Amino acid sequence: MALWQFTNFNKYGNPRTRIFHRPDGQAFSHGPGFGPTMVRRFKYEYKDPVMPPSILELNGKTYLMPIWKEVEKGTTINDVEWIKPKPKRKYETVVVETPASGSDTIYKTRFYPDTGNYTCTCPGTWRAKDRRCKHIKKLENEQRK
Ligand SMILES: [Zn+2]
Repeated sequence: MALWQFTNFNKYGNPRTRIFHRPDGQAFSHGPGFGPTMVRRFKYEYKDPVMPPSILELNGKTYLMPIWKEVEKGTTINDVEWIKPKPKRKYETVVVETPASGSDTIYKTRFYPDTGNYTCTCPGTWRAKDRRCKHIKKLENEQRK
């Protein structure tokens, strides 16, 4: 089955929209006397990044799962448009600013998640043997949480 959305206008000019079923591969057509109409292939929109949609028939009703949205009887999975929201950018650099005590300087500690590297602009990075100042260590602890 395919679903078609059919819109026509009543005598007041208000649109009326209905959903029709047609066997797959057949276009929707209607008889004369409707005036201006709009017909388009209709698909239910389902948004989820990972969970695939499915169709469930229960007690004579048809549901789009897993969101329990009641849909037209005869709806198949082909009538559902699975929209996967784009995942948020993971590899955004984390920047923590720490004012240096006793001066106007602000140290910037950065974490690059794509490489796992840390940098810091404070002098501590050069003093510490492993180039890890207290800011980097603190940020490391926060990233592990
Ligand atoms: Zn530092």
